[in-house]
Amino acid sequence: GHNNPPDYLKGLNPEQRQAVETTEGPVLVLAGAGTGKTRVLTTRIAHILSQGLAFPSQILAVTFTNKAAREMKQRVGILVGEAVEGMPWLGTFHSIGVKLLRRHAELAGLRSDFTILDTDDVIRLIKQLIQAEGLDDKRWAPRTFAQMIDGWKNKGLGPDEIPEGDARAFANGRGRELYRAYQDRLTTLNACDFGDLLLHPIRIFRQHHDVLAEYHRKFKYILVDEYQDTNTAQYMWLRLLAQRPKQPSSPRSRGEDAGRQMRGGANVSEASSRPSPGPADHPLPVNGERERNLVNICCVGDDDQSIYGWRGAEVDNILRFEKDFPGATVIRLERNYRSTAHILGAAAHLIAHNEGRLGKTLFTDRPDPEDPKVNVHAAWDSDEEARAVGETIEAYQRDRHKLNDMAILVRASFQMRSFEDRFIEIGLNYRVIGGPRFYERQEIRDAMAFFRVVAQGADDLAFERIVNVPKRGLGDATIRQIHDTARALRVPMLEAAGKLAESDELKPKPRAALREVAANFARWQSLLDTTPHTELAETILEESGYTDMWKNDRSADAPGRLENLKELIRSMEEYESLRAFLEHVALVMDAEQNEGLDAVSIMTLHSAKGLEFETVFLPGWEEGLFPHQRALDEGGRSGLEEERRLAYVGLTRAKKNLHLWFVSNRRIHGLWQSTIPSRFLDELPEAHVEVQEGGGSNYGGYGNPYGGGAFASGRGGFSAGRQNPYGASRFDSLGSPSGGFAGRGDQKGGAAGQERGQGGAFSNSYAT
Ligand code: ATP
Ligand code: MG
Repeated sequence: GHNNPPDYLKGLNPEQRQAVETTEGPVLVLAGAGTGKTRVLTTRIAHILSQGLAFPSQILAVTFTNKAAREMKQRVGILVGEAVEGMPWLGTFHSIGVKLLRRHAELAGLRSDFTILDTDDVIRLIKQLIQAEGLDDKRWAPRTFAQMIDGWKNKGLGPDEIPEGDARAFANGRGRELYRAYQDRLTTLNACDFGDLLLHPIRIFRQHHDVLAEYHRKFKYILVDEYQDTNTAQYMWLRLLAQRPKQPSSPRSRGEDAGRQMRGGANVSEASSRPSPGPADHPLPVNGERERNLVNICCVGDDDQSIYGWRGAEVDNILRFEKDFPGATVIRLERNYRSTAHILGAAAHLIAHNEGRLGKTLFTDRPDPEDPKVNVHAAWDSDEEARAVGETIEAYQRDRHKLNDMAILVRASFQMRSFEDRFIEIGLNYRVIGGPRFYERQEIRDAMAFFRVVAQGADDLAFERIVNVPKRGLGDATIRQIHDTARALRVPMLEAAGKLAESDELKPKPRAALREVAANFARWQSLLDTTPHTELAETILEESGYTDMWKNDRSADAPGRLENLKELIRSMEEYESLRAFLEHVALVMDAEQNEGLDAVSIMTLHSAKGLEFETVFLPGWEEGLFPHQRALDEGGRSGLEEERRLAYVGLTRAKKNLHLWFVSNRRIHGLWQSTIPSRFLDELPEAHVEVQEGGGSNYGGYGNPYGGGAFASGRGGFSAGRQNPYGASRFDSLGSPSGGFAGRGDQKGGAAGQERGQGGAFSNSYAT
């Protein structure tokens, strides 16, 4: 009958339903994790389509990842009950940006077959420009400038718009010229970088009102997921598309669009002759119309899950939605459908430690006494942590849990290594999501290439990978010459390079560079049998300049790469020789990514946004790792609060089972250091948490940190007959019967423990 709602609406609660059915005007859904925000968006699309309010091509829907876009397409199809004929404008900001730019490339001075440059290309290009300006590219690092440009583009700033201070900060005050030269060069090359995928469309929309008007007519509905993590450029882009010129009060007619275009057209020269308007500026003149301008935009987000501030995201965007879109309907969802009461309780208590939140309620009406509490476990070090997590996973498996329903979420990518190694050893299927597997990372492959050539001088593939890394002025022509020589003499490239370096076939500069390469490898090879292999590996990375290359790199991912390199060296310790290690890695690399198979997911917390799993493991909850040292070094509140939001995202990924781990020893900068459990553990409410005493063969349990006895309670700890494998005297006291952390006598730990203030469960553990 007429009153029966369509099937896709039946499962929704009243607020969700309101968010779906309020199709006219701006809607903001501001709600905590797992309350069905993404589900609302998906259902809203289904609703729009099945009510015939728009064609699929008239819906613009933005997701945070490509994976999320694919899933949304699929689910809409299921809800509508038929294959959705293409949703051409459902994707990430970047993928939609490419599409727009291909359509209007000529307006940005490009051809529609433009290429998109990757970071390496960009850096090479900038280096040329810096040199062409007669500047020293050592003093003015191309990577740094690439990073600056990216930052400007995230803010929507072209060369003419960057602040004077920024412009002066680089290249003896010539930052602006350099940026302009870079853009010109891109145009000549018919290319753009990632930032341009947003910036060019913004520019086009601002300068060509007829084009903008075309999209205003086209997109009847705009939907945005994860709105809290949009950056300024994305925000400008959205506002241009969403803010329609105010309607004349006369009834809308077909002719009106043409009129709007003309007004827009007339305005072009004016727009381009003055500085571009800020995000709040209206793209079109408003002719004294007071009528409200309601656009069918629906954004969903959660300020507590804003975790990309370090990449320029502005959580303020969500906070000022109502100002941007007057008359917006704001809907709050409070019922969480994802997690147990214990998980929600833990997450809510943790995030309450942040200031300046909007504050939200979350509840579940299905508290079940059978639900497990949040488990906190301790391990000796990261290898033991990996072993114990593996055992727990296998226990779940025996209990008929699917690997697909389990995930390990790490704070830093280097943490993946011990899990990957362990899972391969025990034959547990896993897949790494949202990034390369540990051994596939660029810096790991580079380092491995150095090691391979040292171990096996005929490994031409490896040699070719790193012969010009870090950059030493060996161009394609020189590489080709090495190739030719190698082929003519029937020798490996390394040997050919040595021969060429001694001949006069090369110009002085490449010849000197090659000579150094050949000498380096000869020296490292001579050390192969006499120097411990981890030491040799470190030497290679130091002497080749590879470590310095990343140390001098100021891009956001450089510190993570350095951490990965350290982890690589650390992991070599377990192998007898460099060759044994290389063999191990070759086997790991050969392992399948297990697409389509039952497999545990491993990913960073950042890439877990929006996802959910029955069982979640969160390893590495230690001060310095989580919260990350970089956030702590910043001082101030904002870095720490973003870390806490990341912890909140991690906790709220779990539906039912949640396991947190911390280890008491990590190797940092080549030294074993005892670590301090994360302050975030302190911030979990006792009522929802269970501290696991032991649980595996080797790792001793701790005293319950929440029971007042803190870690000093001496129950268990590492005293349980555990030998200290590292032989350092500072761990000796762990063998004493009173055990626990109390006896560590670690100066650093003591200071840090006290700093954390009174009342904290851990604070007095270090007093000794
Ligand atoms: P996050 O903030 O983590 O992105 P979210 O708010 O987007 O979370 P969803 O992923 O949409 O939440 O939903 C969380 C889970 O709850 C999903 O499994 C979803 O299918 C389920 N869910 C949402 N609404 C309902 C409902 N009305 N009835 C039953 N299940 C629901
Ligand atoms: Mg979501």
